[in-house]
Amino acid sequence: MKNNIKYSSTRGKSVELLFKDVIFEGLAPDGGLYVPETWPKLEKKTLSRFSGMSYQQIAFEVISPYIDSSLSDDDLKNIIDKAYSSFDHPEITPLNKINDNKYLLELFHGPTYAFKDVAMQFISQLMGFYLKQEDRSLNILGATSGDTGAAAIESFKNIKSVKIFILHPYNKISEVQRKFMTTIKSDNVFNIAVKGSFDDCQNIIKQIFSDQSYKKNNNLTAINSINWARIMCQIVYYFYTISRLKTTGKRVLFSVPTGNFGDILAGYIALKMGLDIDMLNIATNENDILTRTLTSGEHELRKVKETTSPSIDIQISSNFERLLFDISKDTEYVNKLMSELKKTGTYTLSNDIIDQIKNHFCSYSVSEDEVNRTISEIYENHNIILDPHTAVGFASAGKCPENYDLSITLSTAHPAKFKDTVEKLISNDSFVTEKVKKLMQSDEQMIILENNATVVQDFISNNM
Ligand SMILES: *Cc1c(COP(=O)(O)O)cnc(C)c1O
Repeated sequence: MKNNIKYSSTRGKSVELLFKDVIFEGLAPDGGLYVPETWPKLEKKTLSRFSGMSYQQIAFEVISPYIDSSLSDDDLKNIIDKAYSSFDHPEITPLNKINDNKYLLELFHGPTYAFKDVAMQFISQLMGFYLKQEDRSLNILGATSGDTGAAAIESFKNIKSVKIFILHPYNKISEVQRKFMTTIKSDNVFNIAVKGSFDDCQNIIKQIFSDQSYKKNNNLTAINSINWARIMCQIVYYFYTISRLKTTGKRVLFSVPTGNFGDILAGYIALKMGLDIDMLNIATNENDILTRTLTSGEHELRKVKETTSPSIDIQISSNFERLLFDISKDTEYVNKLMSELKKTGTYTLSNDIIDQIKNHFCSYSVSEDEVNRTISEIYENHNIILDPHTAVGFASAGKCPENYDLSITLSTAHPAKFKDTVEKLISNDSFVTEKVKKLMQSDEQMIILENNATVVQDFISNNM
């Protein structure tokens, strides 16, 4: 019999929920994010068996403690198998060796070429399972900096009990990113281009969700990286990585190109669950709010800069709140910081909190020049083609003054997804796959709306 793990809000003013409700709820009613009451520990004995297991088997072991009796072991296994059957590599997230102490963890083998597929393919199967069981339907609302939207649309396009509305910042994502979303023609898919930044899109979603009765009456749910199930799925590949490398007695660093802090938070949770990770590097591009936070304690919003790694062109890093809660265990403190941020655009962390964060995290920011140079150099020296986000991760890890025996950079997107940037830097286009070539020829469907929550909400109301 499974114990029914409970989830509570980082702001402490919402009722506790069980797993099934948490995945449909998204943001908590008090504005906080849901976290499980404890981090389940995996025993060393269990971990030592992982080297002989498939990705799917490891996923079952890692995810299972977060799920309750609403889903049987067999159903969970079934959902995992279906989710990863759409990946084009048997290892699901293979490691690519650069040299004896540097690896890339390739997270782009899903249908839309970015790591978002790892969680989204699972979530659509999971939600489809629960919806069928209860014979109900759902409206999904999400904001995307380019990759979440595609992963979500691709994964839900055949689930007819769901309508999906995805906001992206108009003209601020790559053409291939956009085409992965807008070329999918299905009656239940709505692509909305908002004349603003990704943060604007995220704010519109937050505003619509803050209207509790609208949310309830319309069966609305979010699939942004604040959704607990997304974080949960991403924990798996940290365990997978360590299971495939000989790490005993070695110091291990993971470097993660970071925007909304979901992917790297999953690494922190893996560590809390018992995985030997020495350091997590928060790799940022010129949108370096988290790098500045770790340096000065000052979490200060600035204007979003457009870079060649648009999926991390973010100032509001939502999942950072989960880390602040986990470290402080103090919902009053989290409330205080979040209301300061809302009011003044800044909060300052205490030295104690900063020190605790730095026990597990470091952070280095990478300029556009450095991204370009990294892509060229890794191609010339190792014949490996990085996408700009992966290049941010790799270059950022290189700035770390401490030595680690193993440095693993999360390769979060396929280079073809950012081909306009990559083509300029290397002499060939061999990396542009047939799939992407076909995509470029396909017709698109989207609506362009003003940066205004009411306008967006009206459109959604009229179409759901
Ligand atoms: C979403 C995304 C990121 C950032 O992940 P977060 O969980 O938001 O920090 C990095 N790289 C790519 C390619 C992405 O799509």
